Amino acid sequence: MSGYQRLRLILGDQLNASHSWFRENNPQTLYVIAEMHQETRYCRHHIQKLCAFFAAMDAFARALQQAGHEVLHLTLDDTVDDPDFPALLSRLCRDYDIRELEYQQPDEYRLAQQLAEGHLPDGVERRVVDSEHFLLPFEEIPDYFRPGKAQKMEFFYRKLRRRFGILMDGPNGDEPRGGRWNFDSENRQSLRGSDLAEIPEPLCFSNPVKAVLNRLQRHDVQSIGSAADPLPWPISRQQSLALLRYFCDALLPNFGRYQDAMTGHSPHRWSLYHSRLSFAMNAKLLSPATVINAALRAHEARPEAINLAQVEGFIRQILGWREFVRGIYWANMPDYAEKNALGAHASLPSWYWDGNTRMRCLQQSITQSLEHAYAHHIQRLMVTGNFALMAGVNPDEVDAWYLGIYVDAIEWVELPNTRGMSQYADGGLLGSKAYAASANYLQKMSDYCGDCHYHPKEKIGERACPFNSLYWDFMLRHREKFSRNPRIGMVYKNWDKMETGRQRAILDQAHWNKGHLNEL
Ligand code: FAD
Ligand code: SF4
Repeated sequence: MSGYQRLRLILGDQLNASHSWFRENNPQTLYVIAEMHQETRYCRHHIQKLCAFFAAMDAFARALQQAGHEVLHLTLDDTVDDPDFPALLSRLCRDYDIRELEYQQPDEYRLAQQLAEGHLPDGVERRVVDSEHFLLPFEEIPDYFRPGKAQKMEFFYRKLRRRFGILMDGPNGDEPRGGRWNFDSENRQSLRGSDLAEIPEPLCFSNPVKAVLNRLQRHDVQSIGSAADPLPWPISRQQSLALLRYFCDALLPNFGRYQDAMTGHSPHRWSLYHSRLSFAMNAKLLSPATVINAALRAHEARPEAINLAQVEGFIRQILGWREFVRGIYWANMPDYAEKNALGAHASLPSWYWDGNTRMRCLQQSITQSLEHAYAHHIQRLMVTGNFALMAGVNPDEVDAWYLGIYVDAIEWVELPNTRGMSQYADGGLLGSKAYAASANYLQKMSDYCGDCHYHPKEKIGERACPFNSLYWDFMLRHREKFSRNPRIGMVYKNWDKMETGRQRAILDQAHWNKGHLNEL
């Protein structure tokens, strides 16, 4: 007899110290945190992502032990013979004579299926509980999202604002603060040369990860990107809270204003005014409620420095987009992962894996992603995502890239953002338009074009920016689908006004580009 009755599994993205599980110590409950080989292999991850998850799991296991809980922390060395979670759990249930297995609802469909369906030894009772992380409890997702039904983020966001009383005013608390739900139109400023010196240095941590790196090497785990030892990402709740405080003090005052801006001319070009809190939140070191409340308190304490547009813009990303993409994911899985509404079948250009392209915007966004395991939303959506969309790259390959390269990439949030928002492969379930844009947009929002081999204003010729001809080729390929879309339908008038010879030349240029993607 082991003395344990109940085993509680903690997945690597369930490092939530505030979970009700941990309110009391029970010597008969054994918590298990395990580095699994299957988790290192279902896609090729960035090395910093692997280190961040394993180091955070290690720190969480130690914090639980210090708080008096019984914890079994298994490394890759200990789980070599466990092909998946059910195999590991069965072994532990037998070894420790366990009667009850509990786990928190996984956020990934893959793991939810594995844990719900996997075989356990006879007599072991299985129980699943909420992860207590999101604002919307898991069982309420079907009340807000229906499979196969297109939804608008904005309406969902307003419902949650009302429900949780966030940024609400008026006698009955049902009017949006400032008289508007959304300050998006004020959040589209680019950075001028004189703004660059003001960009704050990102707060980075110094977490030693030599032991993790050695373990990954010992077990021949394949990865991408540059390793960082010490690791700059937060791996504990304490570090995550420090990053949140730094964000509220130094970055939130300009967050909304420069949310869409990109520059290649600052040493802090990779971080700008973004919070870099996505890993901490996705690993559940921080809850969305904690982050939202901190931003609200900062705004209320310093309204002259942090105006409503900044704080609303930030809260919309978390209360709105983050909860919304999760709802779309769970309402539509597993079919969502197969969607390819635009019939895209090209291969991902090889330079997505090394940044070796003459297109400056892509070269900057990709090398930065390989170096830091991070790019901000507009780099993901309007640079790497936009190019893959217009070039007609197979969404399976695009997904594999995004799922691997970012420190915050977990399928529930990566898949709807990639396949839905950026590739329109869900046919518009998540977003009401395809995010295709020519060099015009990139030139407006960044200073990349000034240093580029290509000319942003040209559509035809050797030095013409490839985004320009690919844009028209994409729009025409899908004319039937998009011409009735009120958000993009009007662009066809511009095309129809062009003389036929020019139209032909643009499409020929696009054809050449598509045939030589790896050489651009
Ligand atoms: P900030 O700009 O500081 O924003 C604050 C927070 O808002 C983020 O930490 C995040 O939690 C939330 N947020 C903002 N936008 C979104 C969004 N569209 N969906 C969900 N949450 C959002 N985010 C991930 O967490 N994991 C992913 O794997 C991921 N893949 C993406 C793939 C593509 C193609 C695109 C276009 C976006 C993806 N995003 C993903 C969303 C977004 O780009 C990142 O959340 C954000 O860049 C993380 O950086 P940050 O913490 O500095 O965010
Ligand atoms: Fe990107 Fe085109 Fe601008 Fe070059 S010219 S940076 S390829 S948008």
